[in-house]
Amino acid sequence: MIKKAILLLVVIIAALAAVMTFKTVTNTPIITTEKPVTLAKINLPAATMRLSKAVQIKTISASLDAPVAASAFNDLHALIDKSFPMIAKNLRKEVIGGHSLLYTWQGSDPSLKPAMLMGHMDVVPVEMGTENKWQHPPFSGKIADGAVWGRGTLDDKLSVFAILEAAEHQLNQGLKPKRTLLFAFGHDEEILGDNGAGMIADHLKQQGVKLAFTLDEGMVVLEGIMPGIEKPIALIALAEKGFLTLELTATATGGHSSLPPKATAVGKIAKAIVDLEQNRLPASLQSPASEMLETLAPYMPTPLKAVISNRWLLDPILVSQLAKSKTTNAMVRTTTAATIVSGGTKDNVLPSTAKATVNFRILPGSNIDEVVKHVEDTINNPDVSITIKQGNNPSRVSNSDSKNYAIVAKTIREVFPEVIIAPGLMLAGSDSKHYESIAEDNYRFVPLRFGPEDLSRVHGTNERILIDNYREIIQFYSRLMENSGG
Ligand SMILES: [Zn+2]
Repeated sequence: MIKKAILLLVVIIAALAAVMTFKTVTNTPIITTEKPVTLAKINLPAATMRLSKAVQIKTISASLDAPVAASAFNDLHALIDKSFPMIAKNLRKEVIGGHSLLYTWQGSDPSLKPAMLMGHMDVVPVEMGTENKWQHPPFSGKIADGAVWGRGTLDDKLSVFAILEAAEHQLNQGLKPKRTLLFAFGHDEEILGDNGAGMIADHLKQQGVKLAFTLDEGMVVLEGIMPGIEKPIALIALAEKGFLTLELTATATGGHSSLPPKATAVGKIAKAIVDLEQNRLPASLQSPASEMLETLAPYMPTPLKAVISNRWLLDPILVSQLAKSKTTNAMVRTTTAATIVSGGTKDNVLPSTAKATVNFRILPGSNIDEVVKHVEDTINNPDVSITIKQGNNPSRVSNSDSKNYAIVAKTIREVFPEVIIAPGLMLAGSDSKHYESIAEDNYRFVPLRFGPEDLSRVHGTNERILIDNYREIIQFYSRLMENSGG
């Protein structure tokens, strides 16, 4: 009997091994190549100078309560008008929400839904005390070492100016798009975008405009960041995570600290935070993170490739491995981060309240209600109340098999023939969410080349763009105008 059972086990293991090996070896890359195209010839020194001037204008979004940098936006608008005379002459420009810009390049075929290229003109402030850590001052727009330096060179004045450079170039070349092209540049993306992108979206909705797709900031071309893959990877984000900030308030009876209860308000809030950290929301591998890994698997070293090629059997192992690193954990989970805590005023006084702020980034497919329910069940303490300070649900997941995606992917292959293209998930937020209801697809991708040390430049110190990369980005948008223009 035992002999038979062992034999059966051996047969099962051998069969599983055979299936897994087969699935691993047959998982080979699907390689599509494009005919070589002539890329736009850009006057790079002039384009670089225009970006440098834009960086010098302090269009800072500090906080929701701070006044809008109105005069800076006026200066930036004036710079745009002066820098791009063909756009000023040929495209319709609308100023919306006070300082955001919407350009319309009318196409000849009204049956084609417009495509919208996006960027935002505002930038985050420079953190106090870090100014002197910059190699060149953050609003200098200094051109040095083959780069333009300063706030906005990665996030996101480069998109605005590269789109404008490309359009000016194509207007000079006489491009007459069949499809209408819209360019939307928000002025408050860094503080939610309600008055900029939100108002532009309302404006378009009122006119019954339906878009084919939008392309906004988001993911980039990763170089040497994905372990085991040497080729650069262009990730087209199909979705962005949601955002939720909860305030927890613990209450207790006040009094003298010489007669304390078992738990003070401070103790209760501390326990609530520890409970949340120890009971994170469950991890699971869903689209678009799953699509990204499945697309990249054929390029990965064997152990990883084998695991991803055999998700039917090994999904739990894969998910638990992904959950181990900070970056991949954020792709498979709604994350929990306690960020502010306060309570108490004096060492010998029992505080009657203590507060904590906890920020969540919600995975597509989940929502604010689910997270709040999880928090309530986890804390499970009537003395700790939970209020929503701010929140927006995750975006939907756009299509990776649509004509719209194909246009973007083809353009990437033409300008960056060496890269691997895969769908991706944006972990931060963008203006794209405002256009969800009026576009078939919302994509988030700018062909910025990012190495391991570049991630910290965004919203951080030494933000800069390499001038050679800036040329490629202009060429990308220029080619995209031809490809999507029809
Ligand atoms: Zn941005």
